[in-house]
Amino acid sequence: MSRNAELFERASRSIPGGVNSPVRAFRSVGGTPRFIARAQGPYIWDAEGTQYIDYVGSWGPAILGHAHPEVVRAVQDAAVHGLSFGAPTEAEIELAELLIQRLPSLEQVRLVSSGTEATMTAIRLARGATGRNKIVKFEGCYHGHSDSLLVKAGSGLLTFGNPSSAGVPPEFVSHTLTLDYNNLPAVQTAFAEHGTDIACVIVEPVAGNMNLIKPAPGFLEGLRELCTRHGAVLIFDEVMTGFRVGPQGVQGLTGITPDLTTLAKVIGGGMPVGAFGGRADLMAHIAPLGGVYQAGTLSGNPVAVAAGLATMRLIGQPGFYERLATQTQRLANGLQERARAAGLAFSADAIGGMFGLYFSNEVPGTFAQVSACDTQAFKTFFHAMLDAGVHFAPSAFEAGFVSATHDDSVIDATLDRAESVFTRMKG
Ligand SMILES: *Cc1c(COP(=O)(O)O)cnc(C)c1O
Repeated sequence: MSRNAELFERASRSIPGGVNSPVRAFRSVGGTPRFIARAQGPYIWDAEGTQYIDYVGSWGPAILGHAHPEVVRAVQDAAVHGLSFGAPTEAEIELAELLIQRLPSLEQVRLVSSGTEATMTAIRLARGATGRNKIVKFEGCYHGHSDSLLVKAGSGLLTFGNPSSAGVPPEFVSHTLTLDYNNLPAVQTAFAEHGTDIACVIVEPVAGNMNLIKPAPGFLEGLRELCTRHGAVLIFDEVMTGFRVGPQGVQGLTGITPDLTTLAKVIGGGMPVGAFGGRADLMAHIAPLGGVYQAGTLSGNPVAVAAGLATMRLIGQPGFYERLATQTQRLANGLQERARAAGLAFSADAIGGMFGLYFSNEVPGTFAQVSACDTQAFKTFFHAMLDAGVHFAPSAFEAGFVSATHDDSVIDATLDRAESVFTRMKG
């Protein structure tokens, strides 16, 4: 038995499914998860010492490459001064100020420890500030695992959703309206019917949890306009896209200003940091100023904040995002060219340091289109690439991530290996 298989078997005895987050279990691609022993730059090594080029990057945080020496040093320096105080620190102010300075829509921000906490609280805040209960989300967008967000679309256009997880009472999601991403008329209808009851619209402004789906022209603009007209709060969930697609997230690329933004992943540089922020009049509703409760023993943790600050400073250097986007585009174009040359139905898309791979002739623009991609072909591709030493996300419905350390030689090595995989797949 391989060392990975041994560890998986052992893990499965003490941890449900052998993992602490379900996608890691390889259920949608089959096979044995790799247990990671260490990582450096664009590479990870598993428990057997096998090296992989990594395009997961901890699902986005590793934008500087793994174990960047300056980030590691910042963590080490912070750790010797104490791991957690449960009292405020100057470093938290610095990170908050940096986030506010980089994202013009943030007037105030609060730090939490995960993306789930950030979105859960942003929704509570929107409800508390508006005095309304209903929320609008989109099928295929993921906003963490809090109860009212674990919902799938109902059967009719404007029926409220059903829980997508056991353990969530239907009543908990009875206020959540789940609509089709990129379908603005559906949102217009929802507002026409429920406008005075809708507290907020929460959206991944570029969707990265159903593979990569970009917003259709006018979609985000339409959401902004509808929320403004009906007094609802527009929440951009930029947990994945924030400081990943560009220096100001999707809001910087589109010029659309949300009322609230949620962040995590990149802003913690690999440590548990999340944040939510936005209009000061809304943030004034959060305890201790206002009546919307939120708290966290480890919120603003000094070691985590040190990693976040070091990361935010390094990605703020001129030219950082231009290089990152160039490398990511090179990867996406190169994969698409090689797959099509081999005669496969394959497309790829990219934005900033994020990319999507689709076993279909066209880049999908809706949940239905992405769901129709060939998942069997993806599985074959995924395992063949893994065997060739390239680690993509173990699911056809996740985005991929490039870091600043994925230089030309790393991308070329990936493309060479993909070429032979595509050729074998066709044969
Ligand atoms: C990852 C993610 C979350 C959840 O963040 P966690 O830190 O895993 O709780 C929420 N929203 C989006 C868009 C994400 O990509």
